[in-house]
Amino acid sequence: MDIPVSIALIPGDGAGGEVMAEAIPCLEWARSRGREVELLPLPYGAEHFLATGETLSDSAFADLRDGCDAILFGAVGDPRLPDGRHAEEILLRLRQGLDLTVNLRPCRALAPGPGPALDIEVFRENTEGPYCLEGSTEPGRAVDLAIHTEPAVRRLLEAAFQGAAARRRPLTLAHKANVLKHGHGLWLRVFEELRKAHPEVTARAMHADALLCALVQNPGAFGVIAADNYLGDLISDLCAAFIGGMGVAPSISWAPHRPFRCAALAEPVHGSAPDIAGQGRANPVGMILSTALLFRHLGWEPEAGALEVAVSDALANGAKTRDLGGTHSTAAMGKAIRDRLT
Ligand code: ATP
Repeated sequence: MDIPVSIALIPGDGAGGEVMAEAIPCLEWARSRGREVELLPLPYGAEHFLATGETLSDSAFADLRDGCDAILFGAVGDPRLPDGRHAEEILLRLRQGLDLTVNLRPCRALAPGPGPALDIEVFRENTEGPYCLEGSTEPGRAVDLAIHTEPAVRRLLEAAFQGAAARRRPLTLAHKANVLKHGHGLWLRVFEELRKAHPEVTARAMHADALLCALVQNPGAFGVIAADNYLGDLISDLCAAFIGGMGVAPSISWAPHRPFRCAALAEPVHGSAPDIAGQGRANPVGMILSTALLFRHLGWEPEAGALEVAVSDALANGAKTRDLGGTHSTAAMGKAIRDRLT
């Protein structure tokens, strides 16, 4: 018998819990097909912090790091905690503490439509850049440091080259090395080195501002886009808009060098959506497609593919939540997708 894969479930706050409730039956469906999986629901988020004063303690982090194989995450953020510190201490700690360097955000047209098929994968560095949280605020002056290290840059770019080679897609590096000479200069240098090592990939580097303009004008011309943490965040949200907005965009982060047992975290691109939370309006598609990415990461390709087909088929047959112009509730959308799984 296979050793069960242990997956921690962290729904988090607001819409995170609502969309997680639609992903859990997909995990149970994989189990019903013979996948050995153990689910560990965990309470971390605003409610837990307000009740206990604990965001993610050292021992809770160590339990996750050493005691599970992957994390399925909803979203964190709560209007009662406007400084966002609990969200930072949970999500950024997981990303940085587990060294989840590579964040993949695929954007594919979900249902057939007019125009060229959109198929973009954004590979975003997930632990450094301006999101390293180092800086200072002084009277009249504020500093945010952006730290880029060669091992992380190399890991992200190697994953992007491999992704582009596997899917035979062109690769574009987004950078601003003309201004950010040190940090993005490092990105450009490693990119040029890997470009020579991967002659099978059509690869080019572009200034991020020109890239954004070209992306809006002709998204079909792009395949894989690699970027640092900050640019990757912005570019992937723009790409999400091409396929229907925040509610449908999935993501997965992983540590290719596997420093710990827990080496992957899948989560929708969206946040806790406080404006619609608790109303059954959140679209669960981003969360369910993130679950599919997790299945693929675990090597469960048949289940990953079946889940993606079920989502496309449900959408093509008119199942849509309000953000996509439909009337389905979160639960009805989840059911429409699950009804297509055999
Ligand atoms: P964060 O800083 O965590 O990204 P945010 O408030 O900037 O948080 P979101 O929580 O993603 O971003 O919300 C941005 C917008 O997208 C909101 O109008 C929200 O209602 C919408 N949105 C987010 N998630 C969903 C979803 N699953 N379904 C429908 N709309 C969503």
